[in-house]
Amino acid sequence: MSPSAPVLRFAPSPNGRLHLGHAYSALLNADLARRMGGTCRLRVEDIDPQRSKPALIDAIVADLAWLGLRYPEPVRRQSDHMAAYRAVRDGLIDRGLTYPCFCSRGQIRLRIASDGETACDPDGVPLYPGTCRPLHPARVAENLARGAPHTWRLDMTAALRCAGSEHGYIAFDGAGERWVSADPARWGDAVIARRDVPTSYHLAVVHDDAGEGITHVVRGRDLEAATDLHVLLQTLLGLPTPRYRHHPLLVDATGVKLAKSRGSRSLADLRDAGVQPAQIRARLGFA
Ligand code: GLU
Repeated sequence: MSPSAPVLRFAPSPNGRLHLGHAYSALLNADLARRMGGTCRLRVEDIDPQRSKPALIDAIVADLAWLGLRYPEPVRRQSDHMAAYRAVRDGLIDRGLTYPCFCSRGQIRLRIASDGETACDPDGVPLYPGTCRPLHPARVAENLARGAPHTWRLDMTAALRCAGSEHGYIAFDGAGERWVSADPARWGDAVIARRDVPTSYHLAVVHDDAGEGITHVVRGRDLEAATDLHVLLQTLLGLPTPRYRHHPLLVDATGVKLAKSRGSRSLADLRDAGVQPAQIRARLGFA
């Protein structure tokens, strides 16, 4: 493999067993890596201390191995890299591109209701009304000093002023490559570091994609809109933007997206029921 060979990754979160939707994404990544003469890495996205279960990590690796997928070592676990995420977060704080948000979810809901504001982000979550953005620095210092719980939000206006307002990325699919314009502003003042850990999915994923030299990100369409925010963070952090492909999501017989939370059958259930890996590969179009 040449030093410039493509590097892809499959990046599950260990908060449930893998289902067919994960299998599709993992197999697609492996298949594309092989066709492109590259490699595919496994990354465990376990920043959520409540939802990530260590026992599930071993189960995920075993499920993937059962499907015939093996990954280069070491497998990156995001929970091992909190100090690095904290440093990235602090860099954004020092540059005045973020502010701490002391609002609870309930306070945000009330404020939105009283403002009569209805704008939502691409996930359907009402946009944060900016309550904490104008807080006086003395008040912020006092809140921080007494350990008031807070997230860190990207000040979208400041971020766009710093990074410019034109953003986009190269999308690749079977038909070739095309330029996609990104509109990060539709995420509003997004949370870039949670209360309990010094990062969010968004910050950790752009840091890791760059750190692992990922050249091609292949993931579900449910994350397509998040890419708009990711390219802005990459620009702010001076990181390269990979090429992206957002694949269709697998749906059940009623047309609803497969999800652990909706009780979709896991690969382990299917294996226990006697289904063979070759049948799964064939069913998902990777025979
Ligand atoms: N960890 C995310 C998930 O399981 C995927 C993140 C990504 O591919 O960027 O949905």
